[in-house]
Amino acid sequence: MKAIEVKGLKKKYRKTEAIKGVSFEVDKGELFGIIGPDGAGKTTLFRILTTLIYPDEGEARVEGLDTIKDYKEIRHIVGYMPGRFSLYQDLSVEENLTFFATVFNTTIEENYHLIEDIYKQIEPFKRRKAGKLSGGMKQKLALSCALIHKPKVLFLDEPTTGVDPVSRKEFWGMLKKLKKEGITIVVSTPYMDEAMLCDRIALISEGEIMKINSPEGIIDEYDSRLWKIRGEDMHRLLKDVREYEGTESCYAFGDSLHITLKGGEESIGGLEKFAEEKGHGKIRGEEIRANIEDCFMKLMKK
Ligand code: ADP
Repeated sequence: MKAIEVKGLKKKYRKTEAIKGVSFEVDKGELFGIIGPDGAGKTTLFRILTTLIYPDEGEARVEGLDTIKDYKEIRHIVGYMPGRFSLYQDLSVEENLTFFATVFNTTIEENYHLIEDIYKQIEPFKRRKAGKLSGGMKQKLALSCALIHKPKVLFLDEPTTGVDPVSRKEFWGMLKKLKKEGITIVVSTPYMDEAMLCDRIALISEGEIMKINSPEGIIDEYDSRLWKIRGEDMHRLLKDVREYEGTESCYAFGDSLHITLKGGEESIGGLEKFAEEKGHGKIRGEEIRANIEDCFMKLMKK
């Protein structure tokens, strides 16, 4: 049995088709990433899987249980950390945790070992109101609350959005440890570096899954030559490169432009010359290996 089985799932809000027929499976103990931009349908998918909303069509099972028929059982065995802050702002750190433990008929002590690493960092502030915590601390408390009943499957909706880089790194370290405890983790993130830390990822856009594979597998499937260039005036360079007749795609990535050429062109010499004629000076293109975002952009174009 799989930890999660989703078949032909659809969900519409009035006019918006948030999920347009999504199917995938997650193995037990897997760290599975759902990667996509805002509005892709990630939260809708999480809400269906955690039994908070019904799909219009299709079927979703968590640990073999149906999200509609067996919603009560599912609620006992999943942990959910929603994207937007889910804690009781007026309750203290400790009161929030006690609340979640009580709801699930357990105690903080019973599963303390699961949350110890994270919780001990916020324990010195246990009498502070949740609303008064920093972003990183709120995230740690929210994760502690989602874990306190030792769920079999943990759903984390953009857990690191708006969290500082050090806390993000710690957080992923934590997830690796939870995985060792045998907990299945489904996590969404807009950060491509985090996508690389998952066992497998689903790339989702506009309610459809474009690809599912290991991050390395997705990168291996990228079959275009990809170049990187840099110039003095990046804004104007982007505009000019897009106007060049041989350009297939060009977008800004960090401090450089990533480019593919029409017809799988073997050399970027023509474009370099064009850029020079346009007054960008000597531009040197460097062939690079695609990253997940490049793969995403390419799939979006299809
Ligand atoms: P994501 O989590 O990837 O940002 P969502 O699942 O939140 O995506 O949203 C998918 C689409 O559904 C978006 O276009 C969003 O505006 C729309 N949507 C989400 N929730 C509602 C709602 N309660 N009512 C109407 N439209 C919604």
